[in-house]
Amino acid sequence: MNNKTLKKILQYSLYKEANAISIKTKGREQIISFSLPQFIEETMELNLKSDLIALLKEEIGLPQSQTNINNKYHKFNVGGKGLPTVVSLLEEEGQKNLQLQIIPREKRLFTIRQLAWQKEQLRLIKLLSRKRAGLVIVSGPDNSGKTSTIYSLLKTFDSSKLNISSLEYIIEEDIPGVNQICIDDRIGLDFKKLLSALLKQDSEIIMLEEIKNKTDAKNCLTAAATGRLVFSSLKSQGAIDTLFRLENMGLSKKEIAENVIMIINQRLLRKTCPYCIKKHKLDPKTIDKFKTYTNIKIQELYTGRGCSRCQNTGYQGQIAIHEILVLTEKIKNLVQRESSLNTIQKAAIKEGFITLEQDALLKVKSGITTIDEIIAQKL
Ligand SMILES: [Zn+2]
Repeated sequence: MNNKTLKKILQYSLYKEANAISIKTKGREQIISFSLPQFIEETMELNLKSDLIALLKEEIGLPQSQTNINNKYHKFNVGGKGLPTVVSLLEEEGQKNLQLQIIPREKRLFTIRQLAWQKEQLRLIKLLSRKRAGLVIVSGPDNSGKTSTIYSLLKTFDSSKLNISSLEYIIEEDIPGVNQICIDDRIGLDFKKLLSALLKQDSEIIMLEEIKNKTDAKNCLTAAATGRLVFSSLKSQGAIDTLFRLENMGLSKKEIAENVIMIINQRLLRKTCPYCIKKHKLDPKTIDKFKTYTNIKIQELYTGRGCSRCQNTGYQGQIAIHEILVLTEKIKNLVQRESSLNTIQKAAIKEGFITLEQDALLKVKSGITTIDEIIAQKL
């Protein structure tokens, strides 16, 4: 990056961990806003000779005549550090508005180890590497990092030996070795057409973006039933809840039991700020409470005191917590026998299932997040 002002702006947003940068210009007036974590907005009027939006267009490689872009992926190089963004631009009637949505660190390509799985969870994830057919679903609420987890799962496969493809509406990140195809209904590249083309090829592992309805769910099943390992995501509150969501969408219990092999449910929690983390002793009441709930006895916990790096909140960045349900023979039988969520959960726990709450508490114990954050997220 050659322009000093642009470089400073991007460096500032990296330092402040901004979620977005927005630049508005009208005539000679230029206003820049940074959306910072904890919903803090920082706006300033710029007194510059150069047109920032024109400079950004040049940097991104867009012709100056282009007045409209929607969600274009661009990775900036800021002093050797990559800053992945999604760019949108709208120019009309002398007003220009450019938005840089910064892809949060937690959405960037994680390796499996960085996702902070518990040892037992990592063992289950590793089992997937030997699977060559079936459906794996990553579920969770909106913005819980589902796509990022699927990306990191895809990365565990050897793309030099296996044919890995994905069908996505927005390609959030380039994954080396994966044939990523962008769905674009406007030019006739619709989901159905692309999927049938993929199934004719020898794709062995396929990622299909989000299951939103029965058609999407059926598409995933078709791909899984033809001997492919399929990864997809779905909005739901828990791993076991996902089974019922699929059923409500119109899949039969038999279809679910025969094809789904694993469900990972996840949530993002704020991470204790590494710059102001401090250990503190607990009062006897809290010690007892923690022990009753987790069976873990602890004397002290960590919290962030608050510093300039974390806007005095005590948190910086996010961490994923997970629960993983493996559809073992026992679970498959229960699914087919009209079992309740509770019955399935009890059986799963007997087989070693770690719930979201348990995973979160283990992360509280190691100082990665706090009890307050668990309460704030209503876990
Ligand atoms: Zn701090």
